[in-house]
Amino acid sequence: MGGCMTKEPVTSLNPVWHQFSDGLYVKLAQEKLIKLACEALKKAGSKAAVERTTGWGRHQVARVLNGKQVSLRISNLKSLLSYLHKNPMNIKYLPITCRTALSQSRLPGLRYSLNPYLGCEHGCIYCYSRSIFRDRQLALNWGKFVKAKQNIQEVLTQELKRKPKGTIGLSTVTDPYQPLESKLQLTRKCLEILSAHDFPVSIQTKSNLVLRDVDLIEPGKFDVGVTITTMDEDLTSKIEPRSPRPDARTQVLEEFASRGVETWLFLGPIIPEVNDCKESLEQVVEVAKKTGSKLMYDKLNLRRWVLESIAPFIEGERPGLVEQLPALLNLKSGWWLEISSMVKTLCAGQSVRCEPAFPT
Ligand code: SF4
Repeated sequence: MGGCMTKEPVTSLNPVWHQFSDGLYVKLAQEKLIKLACEALKKAGSKAAVERTTGWGRHQVARVLNGKQVSLRISNLKSLLSYLHKNPMNIKYLPITCRTALSQSRLPGLRYSLNPYLGCEHGCIYCYSRSIFRDRQLALNWGKFVKAKQNIQEVLTQELKRKPKGTIGLSTVTDPYQPLESKLQLTRKCLEILSAHDFPVSIQTKSNLVLRDVDLIEPGKFDVGVTITTMDEDLTSKIEPRSPRPDARTQVLEEFASRGVETWLFLGPIIPEVNDCKESLEQVVEVAKKTGSKLMYDKLNLRRWVLESIAPFIEGERPGLVEQLPALLNLKSGWWLEISSMVKTLCAGQSVRCEPAFPT
């Protein structure tokens, strides 16, 4: 055990892209690459737009990042095309109304959960939020629909007046900064309301869109956690198909740490034979070290529908492993004891504070 997947060779094309809910925007600096990408995207039947680096988005990028560019990288044209093929952008968006905003949380350290969206476009194949559904089709469709709680601000405002104080987790079942948020800004509106109240807020995301809200996320009241399962972009695109790349997530930790906001890194899920080798774990621990973030780690959680969701990927990459997963993922399995001990040792070696995400 402890073997990571092999990396595919990369070429020298380096497009920079941004994904928003209404499409994929590729930004390329050179005319030649723009032409290449346009042809490739057309061939792939994609409606994505290709733009020059100058112009689009530059002002916004400069404003939120104080001069540093927010960029997500796809290392080559092949990865870009593979991304587009897997992500035809046919996500269903639905506005809904909610009756409650803050729900009781059973997660360690949190009193409440606040989820402005139901469903998550990031579509991670291991996501166990799908287990909330009894219906198999709905569960396996996770990642293809997003319901936006359009009245969440009003409900939250009322609830904050009467609920006892306690830490709010934003979000716990979905990513609060998934692509639709760039348009609807429900998370931002919630943060504006929360800024005026005395409830600590713990944000967890995989997206650098959170950097848009640096003006609201102040040290002391807020902490920001970012999930990084691997620093391997190619693997990320396979298991977290519509999530921002790992280097963009690292930028989030760097930026908030530099502003004095408490940051933490969630290393998980650790999946046998996928992202559990020493080199991979080391790279993530290095990010925690570099950004002064606490590291929390967890293994793959096989709640309802998860095995079925992840099985085609595992079977394609590691034939025969699917059947072994339930035993390997037992809390007392030799694999998990070995991996958790390795994470702790790596963290101790780098003086990174470290703990299991779900202490037993
Ligand atoms: S970002 Fe989080 S909530 Fe969204 S699909 Fe991935 S694991 Fe699930």
